Amino acid sequence: MEWLAIIVTMVVLWVASLFKILHESFSASQVEVLNDGGVFCKRNVLLVIAHPDDESMFFTPTINYLSLRGCNLHILCMSTGNADGIGNIRKEELYLASTVLKVPQKQVKVLDHPDLQDGFGKSWNSKLLSKIIKEEIVNCAIDLVITFDNYGVSGHCNHQDVHQGVRELLQDTSHKEVEVWELVSTSILRKYTGPVDIWLSLLSAKFHLSGVVHCFLNEYPRRSLAAMAQHKSQWVWFRKLFVSFSSYTYVNCLRKID
Ligand SMILES: [Zn+2]
Repeated sequence: MEWLAIIVTMVVLWVASLFKILHESFSASQVEVLNDGGVFCKRNVLLVIAHPDDESMFFTPTINYLSLRGCNLHILCMSTGNADGIGNIRKEELYLASTVLKVPQKQVKVLDHPDLQDGFGKSWNSKLLSKIIKEEIVNCAIDLVITFDNYGVSGHCNHQDVHQGVRELLQDTSHKEVEVWELVSTSILRKYTGPVDIWLSLLSAKFHLSGVVHCFLNEYPRRSLAAMAQHKSQWVWFRKLFVSFSSYTYVNCLRKID
């Protein structure tokens, strides 16, 4: 009986959370819940990721939020994701996903650098990453950078290296005017609670448990699934499950890096 009660509670919580997200998407109260003080409005934003599909699996609440508020979003992907020899296919899939996410393809750059190849155990040099990101900042007049935090959501070493590359950039005083925000990694328990995690995320943002945190609810969760579906080479059953149950499909919390 206890198990039945737990299952019913989870279903009720899931439905209530999904309702909350959809309600916010169509309600004027959204401004109060997600008030960011204009920090993320009309900025020239660079999203730095490691692999094609990172944007669709982890960052869609942020991408949807920013594109709705007049931000000019650029994506810099540090590799083609060639660990299985299908880098060229994955690169094209990222362009297709970007179109679904309303990011112009000409603002998406996918690198294929010999020293930045996809894979566990392949360490990426933070100085090289920093140099590449700096060039992109200058070329696209970027004033806000978003990337992984030091855990990198899934713990993938390439995600963590990208974070270190962006941190390296902050050492350069000539880019002090560029704001940098990281996607906060959550515990494994929270990671697979789907929309239910929005309550904890909103609480953590409200009380700023560590640093300045803003949480974005995904205003178009179905768009996230549609974007991920463009990554056909990756769209296998367990990723379909991951994207449906992952809290990152429904909410992103960004923390400012000083
Ligand atoms: Zn990745």
